[in-house]
Amino acid sequence: MTLLGTQDLSADSQGIAKAADLLRQGLLVAFPTETVYGLGGDARNGDAVASIYEAKGRPSFNPLIAHVASTETAKRFVEWTDQAELLAQAFWPGPLTLVLPLRSDHGISSLVTAGLDTLAVRVPAHPTARALLAAFDGPVAAPSANPSGQISPTTAAHVRAGLTGRIAAILDDGPCGVGLESTIVGLTGAPALLRPGGVALEQIEEVMQANLHHHQPGDLLTAPGQLQSHYAPDAPVRLNAESCQGDEVLLGFGTVTCDLNLSESSSLPEAAANLFAALHKLNETSRPIAVSPIPNHGLGAAINDRLRRAAAPRD
Ligand code: AMP
Ligand code: MG
Repeated sequence: MTLLGTQDLSADSQGIAKAADLLRQGLLVAFPTETVYGLGGDARNGDAVASIYEAKGRPSFNPLIAHVASTETAKRFVEWTDQAELLAQAFWPGPLTLVLPLRSDHGISSLVTAGLDTLAVRVPAHPTARALLAAFDGPVAAPSANPSGQISPTTAAHVRAGLTGRIAAILDDGPCGVGLESTIVGLTGAPALLRPGGVALEQIEEVMQANLHHHQPGDLLTAPGQLQSHYAPDAPVRLNAESCQGDEVLLGFGTVTCDLNLSESSSLPEAAANLFAALHKLNETSRPIAVSPIPNHGLGAAINDRLRRAAAPRD
């Protein structure tokens, strides 16, 4: 993606309306949250999410947090639970992310979830973030707005230094937050602290113990706390395949005859956007999966990283 420049937008109603409009067009906007500046893209638009990875130069696909304006909006995408309600009432808007099962009609790009059937979602407290999300009225995937491997940005100047020319706009509202990430709590099984962050574990424990009579002190900490962030198909995966062997189905890239093509036009962003849905689909055939060679530059590095993990020997 070539952009002539990155617009500076001020955090007034005109700037926010413009930013929401850019998000609707599938473009990227950096915006302040109470943790750090986030690099936002429409979470339902695979191309937009692929361009987040491209802009950051991230060498791997980790699931991203979907930011929404309200609990009501969150419920459009995830299966809501009593525990979620309790924590949302206590800590939203704020630096708490909840991981919940996706609804069947979610419409979220599988590049946001990295192929998982769960979604990390939060309602940020920063007034400008809230205004943008309300104007956009949809889920915004937003990792920190810095090139991969660099320090998280807490000012628009940090964002500008790292991402100028790579994103459509920066919504500038001065310094934000303290650079502390959101706390992540998994609610897909027993509640589990997946990552410590801006909301203290003790605060969460207090709310849960006061309201859930079977919740014991320490439950959140002693829960397995697995950051389940790696989708892998059940079928064996063979990389750099020029053609199929035996019973294999071929996941192609570019001009090859194959069962499913990540991108006929050899576009790496398109391939990234299609990657997880394609793996899920071929996995359903219960046949081994062969994958065409994918160039290792740009988003190809992250695609290959994920494919190598899928191909690695399993326990
Ligand atoms: P951040 O670095 O603040 O953008 O947050 C992203 C973090 O959320 C990553 O460490 C992910 O592993 C975690 N995360 C996002 N989605 C999920 C999910 N569905 N299940 C578990 N962890 C998740
Ligand atoms: Mg980061």
